[in-house]
Amino acid sequence: MADRILVVEDEAEIAELLELYLGNEGYGVVKCSSGAGALRVVETEAFDLALLDLMLPDIDGLALCRTIRERHHYPIIMLTARDSESDKITGLTYGADDYVTKPFRPLELMARVRAQLRRYKRYNLPEREPAKSGLLTHAGLVMNVQNHSCTLHDRDLSLTPTEFEILRILLERKGAVVSAEELFREIWREEYYTKNNNSITVHVRHLRDKMMDTAEAPEYIRTVWGVGYKIED
Ligand code: CA
Repeated sequence: MADRILVVEDEAEIAELLELYLGNEGYGVVKCSSGAGALRVVETEAFDLALLDLMLPDIDGLALCRTIRERHHYPIIMLTARDSESDKITGLTYGADDYVTKPFRPLELMARVRAQLRRYKRYNLPEREPAKSGLLTHAGLVMNVQNHSCTLHDRDLSLTPTEFEILRILLERKGAVVSAEELFREIWREEYYTKNNNSITVHVRHLRDKMMDTAEAPEYIRTVWGVGYKIED
C-alpha cells in the first residue's frame, strides 16, 4: 500500500505543487488548508508522514504539530517561511523531526520525505533488523526497540522518532563517543544534512529535558566537547 502523507498548507499553489510531486513519487496525499480540518483528519485517518505549514490561518502550525505528536509517532516535517534559528529550534521542540524553509526546492523536500519515511519504517519492520530488536537498558532507562517505547524509572518519555533514534544509537554504543556527524549519517543517511548538523544539538537538548538530565552534570548523555556524545558504560 502506498504511504499516506498529510499536507497541511493554506496556500493552494504550494499545496498543489506538493501533491503533484508527492503523487509522482507514488505517495497517497491528503490535503488540508486549515488547522481545524487537519485536526479532524488526523483523528480518523492513518498517515505515514505529515508536512505542516507553520503559518496557518486558524491555528498555529506549532500547536498543530504538538497535538499530532501527542497522539502519533509518524514523522512531521515543518514548512516554515522564516529562516531564523529560533523558529527551527522551536519546531523541533514541539515534536517535528525536520523543517524545510520556504521557498524550498521540491526535489530536496522529496529527499527529506524519503529519508524520514525510511527511518520511520525501520520500526515497523523489526524482522528485517533482528539485531535491533529487544530491550536496551541503562540506569533506570528501558528502551523497547520493537514497539518504539522508552521509559525512565517507569515514566514514559514520549520521544519523537528522531530522539528515539539518537538515544538508541548512544545506548547501543554505550561507552563510546558518537559524533554529531555519525548520528546524522546513521539517522538520515543523506549527505546534504552534514551542513545542518546543529539540529542534532537541539534534539539532544530536548532529549535531556525529557530525561531531566542536564548538559552540566549529565547522568545520561554526556557531551564530549569537539568530539560528540556518549553514554557512560
Ligand atoms: Ca501559510
